[in-house]
Amino acid sequence: MKKALIIGGGFAGCSASHMLADSGRWCIDLVEENSFLGAGVRTFWKGGHPFTFGPRHFLTQNEDTYHYLKKYCPLRDCSEHQFLTYIEQDAAFYSFPIHKDDIAKMPDRDIIYRELENAELANKNVSFSPSGGVVSGGELLNADNLEEFWETSVGKTLYSKFVENYNKKMWQVDDNKVIDNFGWSPKGITLKEGPRESWDDAISAYPIAADGYNQYFDLATENVNIFLGTTIEKYDIPNKTVVINSEKKKYDVIINTISPDIILEGVHGELPFIGRDLELFVLPVKEAFPENVYFLYYAGKEKYTRIVEYKKLTRQNLDHPTTLLSIEYPSENGKHYPLPLKAEIAKAKKYFDDMPDGVFSIGRAGSYDYGVDIDDCIEQALEVSEQLK
Ligand SMILES: Cc1cc2nc3c(=O)[nH]c(=O)nc-3n(C[C@H](O)[C@H](O)[C@H](O)COP(=O)(O)OP(=O)(O)OC[C@H]3O[C@@H](n4cnc5c(N)ncnc54)[C@H](O)[C@@H]3O)c2cc1C
Repeated sequence: MKKALIIGGGFAGCSASHMLADSGRWCIDLVEENSFLGAGVRTFWKGGHPFTFGPRHFLTQNEDTYHYLKKYCPLRDCSEHQFLTYIEQDAAFYSFPIHKDDIAKMPDRDIIYRELENAELANKNVSFSPSGGVVSGGELLNADNLEEFWETSVGKTLYSKFVENYNKKMWQVDDNKVIDNFGWSPKGITLKEGPRESWDDAISAYPIAADGYNQYFDLATENVNIFLGTTIEKYDIPNKTVVINSEKKKYDVIINTISPDIILEGVHGELPFIGRDLELFVLPVKEAFPENVYFLYYAGKEKYTRIVEYKKLTRQNLDHPTTLLSIEYPSENGKHYPLPLKAEIAKAKKYFDDMPDGVFSIGRAGSYDYGVDIDDCIEQALEVSEQLK
């Protein structure tokens, strides 16, 4: 049997383990620094309520990816869900993505309508990819940065209300002009008409089981040698050799899911990430948010970005007299969000170029791509396993 090493036991590492193990041709070692698999997607409990680190629902436009996960982790449809954004200056919550029908309720609607007339010209013939990237058309493609992209799309006023401060705190920058990779930003569309559901053109789902995705992580790694609470002591990636628990091990294939600078000893410099702190709190009410609203964004100068009500996602303990919420603060803790800056993406590419045949780097940190969500982790794992057939 050939030997494979998987570095990191988050969604990407578990999916890759599953797909390789399924072929029966690989002896697989998985190294995970935490004492558990699944990273932020793992379900824990507080106050009797299950929760993950942030929302972590499953979104995809790929039926095959959906059916793969559903086979091993039964899912319920949650396409009814909506997001709201709080706009302090209006003392109001509005839908996000920004909804055309909400503009009539805004005190500054006249100026917004005027700005939108110009924006409509710029937006003509623009189409967005499922993950939000601009596919074709319009002046938008020529925008140099996130600010220009949004101002051209929806005008200065909507940009300043909904997008400006949110992105500054999310990416910890003083000026959104430094964000020069922004295709992910519209979350499907800059200005929405029709249904208020956040993802009316994608499959949205959440595990039915009270313990969320946990059983999938166990099942996916059933036939794998798992080293929990372990980090690799020494990497020799060109020779596909590492030292684990003082033992030198050589592999035929390495699938990395952590930041590539770590496994290549930072030769091209450190890849920066934004981290996140999460605070949990229980409220003495059965339900806190309006029906179908799963989470709230805060687009102003509040230090937090998002509040999630877990019952909405999990549908567990609906009659329990309390509800569990989390509040998220951008921070330096954890490699959660690769920066959407072309210079850093180019730095990451240098690391990928240094990887020899048989070494793959997948997952959000492993690809150094903020656009990588749960469905992308599965698809990348599938792609690698296909290549290794
Ligand atoms: C707050 C938040 C909310 C999100 N919500 C959603 C959502 O609703 N829907 C969605 O589709 N996506 C969501 N995402 C994105 C999605 O969850 C991630 O893209 C995906 O889970 C990433 O999986 P991964 O395996 O690539 O990385 P990770 O989950 O980061 O896993 C990497 C693993 O490697 C381990 N590790 C790190 N360093 C080392 C080391 N040196 N040695 C050994 N092990 C190491 C880590 O402990 C971790 O277990 C969210 C992300 C965040 C941060």
